[in-house]
Amino acid sequence: MCGIFGISGHADAAALTHLGLYSLQHRGQESAGIVAVKDGAVNVLRAMGLVSDKFSAESMRTLAGPVAIGHTRYSTAGSSTIENAQPALVRFKGGHIALAHNGNLTNATEVRRSLEEDGSIFSSTMDSEVIVHRLARAKGERPEEKLAEALRGIEGAYSLLVIIGDTLVAARDPLGWRPLVMGRLNGGTTVFASESCALDIVGATVEREIAPGEIVAVEPNGSVRTIQMPAPAEQRRCVFEYVYFARPDSRVFGGSVDRARRALGRRLAEEHPAPGADFVFSVPDSSNSAALGFAEASGLPLELALIRNHYVGRTFIQPTQQGRDEKVKVKYNAVREILAGRSVVMVDDSIVRGTTTRGLVALVRAAGAREVHMRVSSPPITGPCYYGIDTPDREQLIAANHSIEEIARRIGVDSLGYISLDGMLGAVPDGPSGFCHACFSGQYPTQPPTIPEKRRLG
Ligand code: AMP
Repeated sequence: MCGIFGISGHADAAALTHLGLYSLQHRGQESAGIVAVKDGAVNVLRAMGLVSDKFSAESMRTLAGPVAIGHTRYSTAGSSTIENAQPALVRFKGGHIALAHNGNLTNATEVRRSLEEDGSIFSSTMDSEVIVHRLARAKGERPEEKLAEALRGIEGAYSLLVIIGDTLVAARDPLGWRPLVMGRLNGGTTVFASESCALDIVGATVEREIAPGEIVAVEPNGSVRTIQMPAPAEQRRCVFEYVYFARPDSRVFGGSVDRARRALGRRLAEEHPAPGADFVFSVPDSSNSAALGFAEASGLPLELALIRNHYVGRTFIQPTQQGRDEKVKVKYNAVREILAGRSVVMVDDSIVRGTTTRGLVALVRAAGAREVHMRVSSPPITGPCYYGIDTPDREQLIAANHSIEEIARRIGVDSLGYISLDGMLGAVPDGPSGFCHACFSGQYPTQPPTIPEKRRLG
């Protein structure tokens, strides 16, 4: 999973991209990068770490030009290398190509092997690099035709921003797994971003979502051309974007993330009420909106019983179990005055390994809670994601290997209720069809990668 941002036709393209990346930081904290183009000259800044730590207004001065793209990369254990930081940038006889990718390709291994047999030399282990090589060989006239040619036969999830020459090209895979929105700044400048919150921060307004299978090319003078690749009637938008990934102040897939999460919370309360509980609280921040929905539908008051330290990164990315256990305590603390002696409902958006949840339940009990009823606003995660969400292998997914009763026992709660698959799909905007829910249902829209990638590279 990653965040991508692009802009064409603005004197401060890099500075605005820098700003946009701040709003996409939640989509990836491993590395960040920006490429800008001016009069055929291309410049790049890439760094491991957070946008705010690594880039400054000062550093943006080295990135002149009216066209820029940026990327924030999602952290996965073991793949933190600068070679894998994006945007990817190559210079070749036809000029330069810069590419920022959100998603995960499922046949990258095969495509890479065949390119290598033809002499390609790869400089990273990123799946996205195969698109760059394909682009460099593409014969098409216009940049968007080259990209369409390069993407033929590429399978899996991609929302892309590519600079070819000084043309900015945006594309979304035919199943529409990952979001990509197009906006306008000052009526003219075109802006693209993974989520609408990144348009808000630069003052752009949302024009529309890029359609699944659509390729949009924008020239610095503002002219726009589009190509439609063949796309099946039914989309496979990632429902986990609504559940967990996107920011609640964003619109993705044309719907409000806040509204989606509240509806998930309401539905969860209908499916798994907690009669007799004193109040409900969220695991901040990703389940705040779902907990609000639960409170609304159940009539229980909402309390702020867990406090999150905002200066700590995600627990999920700690490579060792011990590291993850310790990080829960560093990241969260419980408010004793609220919890002591009470029967409580804890709402979280998902249980993946169960590590965070177990640690949180222990914290809440240590603060004196009498009963802990856990409610989860997504169904049990029973399989890995091959399309850009970094879920661990099946062996580590608690719900792939244990019944609900066993999970409840392991995480130490008095009761446990997950929203149903139908409940979730009925609650999100524009549901219930047209979503990918493979990690919950096992219904994978494509063949899983033949060589399972340990690291997910989106
Ligand atoms: P776990 O301890 O593995 O069960 O972690 C569950 C927590 O991780 C939940 O609070 C989620 O908000 C969060 N989470 C869920 N999916 C992901 C993901 N793919 N990457 C990072 N965090 C996640």
